[in-house]
Order: sequence, then C-alpha cells, then structure tokens
Amino acid sequence: MIPAGFEYERAASVEDALALLARHGDEAKLIAGGHSLLPLMKLRLASPGVLVDIARIPGLGYVREDGGAIAIGALTRHCDLVESDLLRRRCPLVAQVAAEVGDIQVRHRGTIGGSLAHADPNADLPATMVALDAELVAQGPGGRRTIAARDFFQGFLQTALRPDELLVEVRVAPTDGAGTAYVKFSRRRQDWAIVGAAAVVRNGAETVVWTGVGSTPVRAEGGIEAAAAALEPSGDLSGSAAYKRHLAMVIAGRALAAARGAA
Ligand SMILES: Cc1cc2nc3c(=O)[nH]c(=O)nc-3n(C[C@H](O)[C@H](O)[C@H](O)COP(=O)(O)OP(=O)(O)OC[C@H]3O[C@@H](n4cnc5c(N)ncnc54)[C@H](O)[C@@H]3O)c2cc1C
Repeated sequence: MIPAGFEYERAASVEDALALLARHGDEAKLIAGGHSLLPLMKLRLASPGVLVDIARIPGLGYVREDGGAIAIGALTRHCDLVESDLLRRRCPLVAQVAAEVGDIQVRHRGTIGGSLAHADPNADLPATMVALDAELVAQGPGGRRTIAARDFFQGFLQTALRPDELLVEVRVAPTDGAGTAYVKFSRRRQDWAIVGAAAVVRNGAETVVWTGVGSTPVRAEGGIEAAAAALEPSGDLSGSAAYKRHLAMVIAGRALAAARGAA
C-alpha cells in the first residue's frame, strides 16, 4: 500500500522540531525510526499532512550515567540499547528486552522514544519501563517535565504526551542487586508478543507488568494468579481471552522465577 501524500520537514534540533509542531499544529506528526508510523500510513490508518523528521537531531542518541540514574536519549535505537555496556552492567533488563524487539532491521531503525510514544499495547519496552519505574522526560514550548512511566501510557496508542511535546529522554534507576527478567510469548521468534511479562525483584518487593493483555501495560496486583484471572484481554487471531489469561499467568510465573533467581 502507498501512503497518502504528505509534506516533509527535517528538524535540525529539538527547538526546531517544537517550532515545526507549533507551526503545523494537528497536521504534524513526528517521525523517528518510522517503523511504527510508516506501516500505519501505508495502511491509511494514519494520514498526517506533515511529517516532522527528528531522526537526525544530533545529541538525542545516548546511554549514560546521570545523577545516579541511567539516562537514555529518545533517539537511541534498539540495537544501541542491546549493545550498551552500561545497560548490560547496571540495568540489563532494558538491553535484554531491546534484543526481543522485532528483527535486526527493526532494531537498527526503531528508537526507544518511538516505541514508548507509539504505546502499542503489545510492545515490549512500555511494560518494561513501567516495571522499572522509569521516568520519561518530555520537552515542550514551556520547557521540560517528567512523567512517571506508570502515568505515561493512557490507552490504545495514547500517552500523556501533549501534541506540542517531544519525548527527549528516558531515565531508569540502576538495578544493581535486584533480579530482573522478561519473558515474551510469540508465535515465531521475531514476532510481536502475544503476551509478555517484565519482572523486577528489588529489596524484597516483587513487580510484574504485562504487555498484550490490555490497552496499556498492566501491573499484576495482589498475586499473579488473582491478577491474571481478573484480566480482560481481547480475544483475536492470536487466541481467546481465556487463552491469554492462562498465558499471562504462566508467563508471569516464569518471569518472576527468573527474576528471583537473578536477585
Ligand atoms: C516488522 C516489525 C516488527 C516489530 N516488532 C516489534 C516487537 O516485537 N516488539 C516491539 O515492541 N516493537 C516492535 N516493532 C515496533 C518497533 O519497535 C518500532 O521501531 C517502534 O515501536 C517505534 O519506533 P520508531 O522510532 O520506529 O517510531 P516511529 O514509527 O518513527 O514513530 C512512532 C510514533 O511515535 C511518535 N514519536 C516518535 N518519536 C517520538 C518522540 N521522540 N517524541 C514524541 N513522539 C515520538 C511518532 O509521531 C509516531 O506517532 C516492530 C515493527 C516492525 C515494522
């Protein structure tokens, strides 16, 4: 399929991107790696009048220590998360999950900012960020603000980002001494998750967050079995709601066991 026609603007800086968003208003859509937006455009499920390309903004692709946290620039590609020595040592869950995203071509184009801003309910990184209690930094005309990952995902492809804002950074606390794991169940190795679960065991507290069982990442509250039984996933070609509830329980159990073993 061929997308509808659109104008193209390339932003040279964050400020430039914000100015372009302000100028084009509702017509404008940011594009980073293009691996979620372009498929939607080709299916004509999205038809932005203006694409604001942020992929070449310098200085937004990094993983570094900053004030006790690990700061990840929004344009950091999945493959760079996988390769990051800092993440592998101090927050290995992010590198592990990034390695589970799609295939090698997707990982070389797609960005962490695009994945989080797109908020696909079956994506791997959103649930991971909620499990890690990450902070997401947005920049708009009035400056920067920080949004907790648990408040960021608001519905199917919906986030707390305002239309005039860019996601510029993701901040995670190092998980030194904690156990973390991600278990993804998909039909084939490189497919999207039917159900996935991120688990973090830290200071005696156990957190499990699912992907694929709701319109946003879902935190397991009050024990895995009860939480899985209360889920209301939609049945589709991947399986019925009952199948996904069962899968959620099994996958969460495996993720938690792996995280406990790594703690
Ligand atoms: C074949 C295929 C398989 C895939 N498999 C998986 C998978 O298994 N797991 C998984 O999690 N994902 C998967 N993906 C999605 C992939 O991870 C995408 O790269 C990612 O979801 C979006 O990143 P992007 O940089 O390509 O974003 P884009 O497509 O450029 O943008 C996506 C959305 O985010 C917005 N956006 C982008 N960057 C910003 C920003 N900095 N601030 C504000 N808004 C922004 C855009 O306006 C757009 O609405 C797959 C994609 C493909 C094509």
